[in-house]
Amino acid sequence: MMSKSIPTLEDLGDVAGKRVLVRTDFNVPMETAADGTRTITDDFRIRAALPTINWLTERGASVVCISHLGRPKGAVEPKYSMNPVAKRLSELAPGVELLENLRFNAGEEKNDPDFVAELIAGVDMYVDDAFGAAHRAHASIVGPPKTLPSAMGRLLQKEVEVLLTLRESPKHPFVAVLGGSKISDKLGVVEALLNVVDSLVIGGAMCFTFLAAQGYSIGDSLFEPDQVETCKRLLSLGKAIHLPEDIIGLDADGKYATYGRRLPPGAKGFDIGPGSAAAFTDIIMESRTVFWNGPMGMFEDERFAGGTRTVAQAMADTKAFTVVGGGDSAAALAQFGFDDQVDHVSTGGGASLELLELGDLPGLAALREAPNAR
Ligand code: ADP
Ligand code: MG
Repeated sequence: MMSKSIPTLEDLGDVAGKRVLVRTDFNVPMETAADGTRTITDDFRIRAALPTINWLTERGASVVCISHLGRPKGAVEPKYSMNPVAKRLSELAPGVELLENLRFNAGEEKNDPDFVAELIAGVDMYVDDAFGAAHRAHASIVGPPKTLPSAMGRLLQKEVEVLLTLRESPKHPFVAVLGGSKISDKLGVVEALLNVVDSLVIGGAMCFTFLAAQGYSIGDSLFEPDQVETCKRLLSLGKAIHLPEDIIGLDADGKYATYGRRLPPGAKGFDIGPGSAAAFTDIIMESRTVFWNGPMGMFEDERFAGGTRTVAQAMADTKAFTVVGGGDSAAALAQFGFDDQVDHVSTGGGASLELLELGDLPGLAALREAPNAR
């Protein structure tokens, strides 16, 4: 039997007068002032949900948004209140409701049926537009589509289209540029990506576990000893894996220093060097598809931002189809002013990697089983 397809907004039928529950990803970055006031530092995720919200309200639906924010542990924590988000949402989409943080209820992460029943009480339809949470089998993601006519919103639809195209029919050469600090989280996708990409470029803290696996001394750089064997195996698969040839960091006395691939004892690598950045740029310029996840260095510190800035510039300049995933990578791209010069910035870090790795997500599988799915 052919698997059912994921319903889109059009598959909801007439939404006029209907109450529609929209799972959004309003997990926005926040800043806390000295007096405890919390303000949103980037409303990108709220604005990203507007096409779906507006599509529904323009057709006469009343919209109730739900989201999590931060990591409250299943109980009310005022610092994670959705109030600042509700205020911004009321400016961007007047009349749209927003319920309090889903993770104030322990039933959310446990996918508790009682919590699902609470969420869907009085609701006619469900829309999932929270790509950033679609890899979680939480109550608000997989619960409502069991009984309600459901659909993916425009944002989720675009994410799925772009990422599945990368996975299933990318234009070659296809290079994945990986960095950042969450090495063990990302090695699964490295392995899956090796099946679809022509080459991998590795920078960020991730490169040190690979360099250690090749026998280079890495000083006191960030690395994950229990992943060395995995890196050795990945390196032995015979695929092109490009590692930095020079490293910028701090020596044992805390002084700024540039090294080759070998770091002396006590030195810490915090960025790829200019030679590596130039080599990575060439690879990006010569590719037809580029996926980038994870900054090349500790770009929050200007001394170690050079590698990430150069890669961001190459992403903007190349003629390739360019996709950026990952919260920090997207933030870096925006910080350097290139966010409108790539083809797609994914709103989900973990979700984009998992979709590339597995080709499906719990949230998508749930929508495929909704009563209106065909
Ligand atoms: P993303 O959010 O894009 O998926 P990650 O969360 O995996 O990326 O990693 C981002 C973080 O990695 C940044 O805060 C950056 O400072 C850090 N980082 C990158 N390179 C290094 C390095 N060499 N040493 C320490 N931290 C690094
Ligand atoms: Mg991150």
